[in-house]
Amino acid sequence: MGPLTTGKKDYYEILGVDRNASQEEIKKAFHRLALKYHPDRNKEPGAEEKFKEISEAYAVLSDPEKRKQYDAYGFEGIQGRYRPEDIFNRTVFRDIFSEFGFDFDDLFERIFGGGFGGFGFQQVQVGPRRGRHLEAQIEITLEQVADGGEMEITVPRMRRCTSCGGSGAEPGSRLLKCPKCNGAGRVEERSYSGFAQLIRVMPCNRCDGRGEIPERVCRRCGGSGLEESRTKLQVRIPPGIEDGDSLVLRGQGDDGPYGGPPGDLYVTVRVKPHPYLVRRGLDIVYDAEVSFPQAALGAEIRVPTLRGEAKVRIPPGTQNGTIIRLRGEGIRGNYGRGDQLVNIRVKVPERLTKRQRELLEELARELGEEVPINKRRMWHR
Ligand SMILES: [Zn+2]
Ligand SMILES: [Zn+2]
Repeated sequence: MGPLTTGKKDYYEILGVDRNASQEEIKKAFHRLALKYHPDRNKEPGAEEKFKEISEAYAVLSDPEKRKQYDAYGFEGIQGRYRPEDIFNRTVFRDIFSEFGFDFDDLFERIFGGGFGGFGFQQVQVGPRRGRHLEAQIEITLEQVADGGEMEITVPRMRRCTSCGGSGAEPGSRLLKCPKCNGAGRVEERSYSGFAQLIRVMPCNRCDGRGEIPERVCRRCGGSGLEESRTKLQVRIPPGIEDGDSLVLRGQGDDGPYGGPPGDLYVTVRVKPHPYLVRRGLDIVYDAEVSFPQAALGAEIRVPTLRGEAKVRIPPGTQNGTIIRLRGEGIRGNYGRGDQLVNIRVKVPERLTKRQRELLEELARELGEEVPINKRRMWHR
């Protein structure tokens, strides 16, 4: 399988559709172009390349997740995240090619240079392969971080086909020895580089490396042994988790083809910013505004916490910047909970009524200060 296109062209332009085209429009555009550039119909030079290009554009834009990634990060986002075999996925093209009446196996092999494994493949695997690892993202609140908890997520993933049980053979039909690799599951590919002959051993693309092929292909899964499903999973959120942390759910990725072990699911955790509370390690910081009289005379105020709210006593004579510690109101860690730090901010009124001004001036005189402090005098001393 060759690498992806160089990414110089825009996938939407390649298919000639709008950036907000519907899935139906994208499919129609691909159908029209696929008929035009099908290598059996179009013998012009470059037609095959063009067919590959529109297939790649279609593979990305027809998959909501890949399309989102492409819209957000462009070609680099696709290249950085997916391998070519994730893009030129058999299951993506099997259905649509057979819908168009194309010979799937033949075309897929011809266009994508021999199925899986030809691109950057280091290790020859024969027999059941592991399913793909999947990624998901969840968004949680700081409150959920505080004590941990559980969250239900729905994951689209490939599961073993319920009709053939993963063998890919239509029920009642047998598995036959693969004629291409003679049951070995691998083939040798010879190429020449100068005088050197390179022999690469690759998994057989006719049988996907398993050495056998179904006598009759399972109608439900098209022979892949897998079908799409949506699975509900409980994700356990450990207390104290940080924004950007990943949770690994072993075995919750795609099932492996033909009985291979499942991949894993990686869940990235995003923590929503809290409207009032800021995390600092296991502690929580809250800025509480109090008035000058409250700070001077003392008061009791209510502050929001991760678990509701708390009453905080402001002692008389509290200075701006004083921190009052609420023990155990922070995030749970391995050795107990952090604290909530209430940072006292003494608020200075921006506007005064006449009466308030009189009272403050009286206070100022009482404190031995000169009043009124005239704005003009302050500026033109
Ligand atoms: Zn099946
Ligand atoms: Zn084979």
